[in-house]
Formats: sequence, C-alpha cells, structure tokens
Amino acid sequence: MHAISSTAASDGDRTVDVAVIGLGSAGEAAARSLAKAGLDVVGFESGRVGGECPFVACMPSKAMLHDAHRSPAERRSWPDAVARRDEIVDHLDDSDHVDGLVDAGVEVVRARAEIVGRRLVAADGRRWSARHVVVATGASPVMPPVDGLDSIPYWTSEDALTSNELPERLLILGGGAIGCELADVYRSYGSHVTLVEAADRLLDELDTPVADRYTELMADRGIEVLAGVELESVERRDGEIIGRLSDGAMLRHTHLLVATGTTPRLEGLGLDRLQLDQGAITSGAPTRPIGGTDWLWAIGDVNDRSPYTHGANAEARAIVAEIVGHGPRPVGVMPHCVFTSPPAATVGSTLERAVADGIDAYRVEADYAEVARTTTDELVDGKVALTVERTTGAIIGFSGAGPAVDELVAAATILVHTRTTVEAAADIVFAFPTISEVLDVLLSRALDRRSEQADGEPVDTESLRERVPRSPEEVEEAQEAIAALNDVPHAVPDQTVPDQTVPDQAVPDAG
Ligand SMILES: Cc1cc2nc3c(=O)[nH]c(=O)nc-3n(C[C@H](O)[C@H](O)[C@H](O)COP(=O)(O)OP(=O)(O)OC[C@H]3O[C@@H](n4cnc5c(N)ncnc54)[C@H](O)[C@@H]3O)c2cc1C
Repeated sequence: MHAISSTAASDGDRTVDVAVIGLGSAGEAAARSLAKAGLDVVGFESGRVGGECPFVACMPSKAMLHDAHRSPAERRSWPDAVARRDEIVDHLDDSDHVDGLVDAGVEVVRARAEIVGRRLVAADGRRWSARHVVVATGASPVMPPVDGLDSIPYWTSEDALTSNELPERLLILGGGAIGCELADVYRSYGSHVTLVEAADRLLDELDTPVADRYTELMADRGIEVLAGVELESVERRDGEIIGRLSDGAMLRHTHLLVATGTTPRLEGLGLDRLQLDQGAITSGAPTRPIGGTDWLWAIGDVNDRSPYTHGANAEARAIVAEIVGHGPRPVGVMPHCVFTSPPAATVGSTLERAVADGIDAYRVEADYAEVARTTTDELVDGKVALTVERTTGAIIGFSGAGPAVDELVAAATILVHTRTTVEAAADIVFAFPTISEVLDVLLSRALDRRSEQADGEPVDTESLRERVPRSPEEVEEAQEAIAALNDVPHAVPDQTVPDQTVPDQAVPDAG
C-alpha cells in the first residue's frame, strides 16, 4: 500500500483545473469540452489518443462488416477490405486526435499517469495538481478460466481487427456483441466459424425470445453456434487448436478468438492510495464524483455502465456540465446495437431485467413476418419485443433482431427515454410498407394487453428473476433510477440560453 500524499503541490508541479487520465472516446470528449469551456486541462494517454474506438474497435469492425454484408459479387476481396479498413483507421496514426485536442487548448501528455494523492496526478516524472481528476482509462479484455489458454496463441478483438489473416477455421469464445460481429465478418469471407457461448443463447442481454430468434438467424448465416456449453480446455497440436467443451465434444480450429467481456482498466492507477477499489468506480451514478470525493470522476468503459462510444460521450457531456457548473445533466437511456446481418438492438429494460429490479411489467412480441415489407423485400423473419410497466403503462424497454433494427431502435429510444405510455404511443402512425410497422404491431398489442384487465398470461417472475440475479442494493439502485426518470420533466425544455459563465477556476491546495 502506498502512502497517501497529503502535501500541497511542490515546486515544479503544474496546477490545472482538470487532469484527464486516458484520452479514449470518454477522456477525449471530456478534455476537449472542458478546454473549450475555458478551463485549464491536461490529458494523459499511454497508448493512442482517441482510444480503441477509432483504431481497433468500432470503426474497423464496422468497416469490415460493411464489406461482409455486400453481395458476393460486389464484395471487395479480403486483401482489399483489409486495406480499406487500415485506411479508415489512419493506419493507427492518432495525430488528428492529438491535433484536435491541442487546438482546443488541452495539454496532451503522452505517458501513463497515476494518482499519487488527493487531487494530484503524476506522469513522466512530473506532477500536476488538479481541481478535478477524471479517470477515463477504459477496460481490458477478460481472459476466461480455460485450461491451457495461457500457453497457446489466441486473438483478442484488437488482434482480429489489425490482422491481415483470414483464418480457415475460427473458434470464437463469447457470443456477445463483439463475438457475433466478428463471427459475421469471418463467416462472410469464407472462414468456418464456431461460436461458443456459455449462456443458452447469443446476446443473452436481449429479451429472451428475441435473443433466441437472433441465435437462429446467426446459425442460418452458416455460423456454427454452440450455446449452453463452456470451453473447458484448449491445446495446440500439430499446428491446430484443439478445444474440449463441457459436454465432452472436441473442436479443431486453426485460430481462436477470445471475446468474453472486459474489466475496468485500473492497474497502476493509484486508487489504493485513496483507499478506493474497483467498486468505487463501478457503483453510483456515472455523473457524480466517485468514492465520496468532490473531485474524482470516472467515465466511459472504466465504470462498466454503458460500454459504448455513445455511452462514453454522454457521460463526458454530463460530467463536463457538472464541472463547469451547468449541471445536473442526466445520461439518457442507452441504446445498444450489434451490427451483424441482420442486426440486433436493445434499449431500456428487458422483461427479465425489469422483473429482477422489482418492476411490475409485461412484454409483447411481434414478428417481422407480420409486416408487408418483409414480403416485398424478401427479408428474414426477425423479432421485436416491448416491455411495459404495468402500473403506469410507460414503455420501458425494447429489443429486436432483424433487418434495420439498428435504426429502428432510435424510435424505441425516444419512447423509452420519454417514458411514453402505450396509450399515447398507440396513435402514432407508421408509413406503409416500412419495417417500422413492426412497432405499430407491438404498440397495438401492448394497448390490447393493457386493456385486458386480466393481463393475459401471468408472468413467471421466479424463472425470469433467475436470468438476471440482483442483490438487494442493486434492486434499490434500479428503483431509485426509475423514480428519478419519472421525475425528469419530459415536456419541451426551457429554451432560455444557459449561463455560459465558467465558475471560479482557482485551484485549491492539493492537500
Ligand atoms: C471490437 C469492438 C467493437 C466495438 N464497436 C462499438 C460500436 O460499434 N459502437 C459503440 O458504441 N461501441 C463499440 N465498442 C465499444 C467502444 O469501443 C468503447 O465503449 C469505447 O471506445 C470506450 O471508450 P473509453 O474512452 O472508455 O475507453 P478507451 O477507448 O479504451 O480509452 C481509454 C484510454 O485510456 C488509456 N489509458 C489507460 N490507462 C491509462 C493511464 N494510467 N494513463 C494514461 N492513459 C491510460 C488507454 O491507453 C486508452 O487509450 C466496441 C468495442 C470493441 C472492442
């Protein structure tokens, strides 16, 4: 355990308003906005400024998916698709991101930073005393406990998105968004892809019937989906990767990609000096200072709340509003898309999560086959679901798997964000023949279900609760969050221009 530094900044230290540790999507957005608001900001980055999204995550994966989804006749060759991907990621050159920050007035320090005391950050042999410190260090891939994994070569998503290799037989461990997107890319380009997922279905965070349909649709794409089993051990034999599953089956592949989730990147950050642990970062509202302080903030993937680029940006916006004195600015409900063919998307609560959070809710479902566009355009039969809070009639969640659902989710996000009731939404008109008519089907069904006093089939709360285990504290936190949403005025906001004055920027003693 390191000693807590309680000394004021010493000679040679620089004092700033805000020190931002990690300049990925979250840190970059926060640092830029804070500097533009007139604050004195230093940002530290030990890797690429811009973080993972533009270089090794969102952008290259979406570029590869774009090519993968074209018809075989129109599709670029693998080498051409990889070359285009590398151009889109600027060949991993982050200078545009650095220039953008420097132009906004941020001091960019290319070094690993650590917190060495209260409001005190050190990097590269120097120290900065800061009125606020923002931790935006992202998350690292989690390695699952598979026997032999540490002694064989395997890919992470970053390796997959920087490699030029097209595997002959690819084993992907993890059926979440990243595993599914990369499975779709490599399968489209001819690899034999096996996707192993411990849960009973891919994208288990979606409403169960939607995740089940998505799992079938991915299998229809030619991906070998093995759900409800675990990879127990792996070894390398004769240049191949041999895997053994929990049901005893053996697998033979040329490559292994591990995509089993992430954990907050906190190593060496110095939180222990403040007597804080990971729980301090991942609990509480992402828009408030952490660990009972009034100066330490954690945004982006590191807080494990909304691990998306738009989540990072929304949290950055919210804490900037707090720091410059324009807060509070809550973070809205968070949509999540998986850009496979067909895509999947979700926003708000699933019925499983609502029940786990102690909310009295019901769900309605609709199939794409129920709308004309599916026939005219020969679309695959996707599925959508809507979750409704029974007491208020508010729409609290949507999940879907099917064509264009990654765009459709924007309409659902508006309904969930504004807690529109089924009664109010049922009169919304959707154009014929569009895919959005599946929302019309859902809303009519939700209205019918609401008017049936008996509410149709009873919800089996016990089995739903088992799907999303929750501690009593988590239930309490979820209910508070819902109560807060109910308090947000959803009428047209006040149009008056906010006060742009930057509050007192004096930096107090670091002690
Ligand atoms: C394959 C893949 C595809 C994805 N696709 C999408 C998508 O389509 N849409 C979407 O919304 N999200 C997507 N995501 C998620 C998205 O990339 C992340 O949510 C987002 O980039 C998180 O930003 P961040 O700033 O929190 O973290 P990061 O981008 O990881 O940035 C953190 C930065 O902190 C730096 N750092 C860490 N410790 C220190 C330290 N002590 N000192 C200095 N610097 C430090 C790191 O070097 C890093 O650059 C995808 C992720 C992956 C892996």
